[in-house]
Amino acid sequence: MIDLHLHLDGSLTPREVIELARLTGVTLPTYREEELFSLLTFDGRGTLNDYLTKFDLPLSVLQTAEGVEYAVRALCERLAEKKYEYAEIRFAPMLHTRRGASADDIVKGAVKGLRASRLEAGLLLCCMRGASNAENLGTVELAAKYRGEGVVGVDLAGAEALYPTENYREVFALASRLGLNVTIHAGEAAGADSVRAALDFGARRIGHGVAAAGSEELLKRIVAENVLIEVCPTSNVQTGAVPSLSEHPIARFLERGVPVAICSDNMTVSDTDARLEWTKVQAACRLPDTAYEKMLAAARLHRFS
Ligand SMILES: [Zn+2]
Repeated sequence: MIDLHLHLDGSLTPREVIELARLTGVTLPTYREEELFSLLTFDGRGTLNDYLTKFDLPLSVLQTAEGVEYAVRALCERLAEKKYEYAEIRFAPMLHTRRGASADDIVKGAVKGLRASRLEAGLLLCCMRGASNAENLGTVELAAKYRGEGVVGVDLAGAEALYPTENYREVFALASRLGLNVTIHAGEAAGADSVRAALDFGARRIGHGVAAAGSEELLKRIVAENVLIEVCPTSNVQTGAVPSLSEHPIARFLERGVPVAICSDNMTVSDTDARLEWTKVQAACRLPDTAYEKMLAAARLHRFS
């Protein structure tokens, strides 16, 4: 299996959160794993903004380079045990600097964690919607600095409904000048225009892209430009991007020839993994078995390293 859309902070197990709290001197609201699990997972449905509140607790224990190194290595090891062939793990360096670590140190920590694991994997650095231009440009520069050491591209994450993709033109112009691989969360909490802007900015992959399904012209463009959609079914239901799994547009994407990869988004927040996402969406959308190989082949072709 391959997971191309996997957030570090949304994928810590309760045991890892406890270990990180110990490592970094943070006091947790509880040390019982079941109670922590319910604090870390999004149980039910809401909006993307509700879903994003689940990142506060894991982020509180990911504020040092050592903590980030530990978390990346632990996540990679878990995926290696599940026999994943490859993964791209993403995080926003700027969200890990509350206790004085620099974004550069955080990326260094992540690179160390990646190197210490046996999984073949890459790191994606997320720019954030709502962050300053300077912070986002700094993130892009960091991705260029650590390219070749495990960082394979940049992303744009955060509250899409509040901060339109269009606002980040300058950020992705720099990414483009630096020749970085780009994926952008788009068409999750906003419409088709958000996906169009992401394509205009040079994204080679789109995170979620649900809103693209409503536009034949946009689907044609995605196919013509050979852009892959990172599909995260459970997360899409939880944030209200789709009403139910059976109404997920993945079947439409496949029918139209859009390259798709099934991804988990957040293994803990959505209590899933990419393999389980495939099983769930295949049953709910009655996808043929052949779609699995097609999906895996597309993921291999569109990985950034
Ligand atoms: Zn995501």
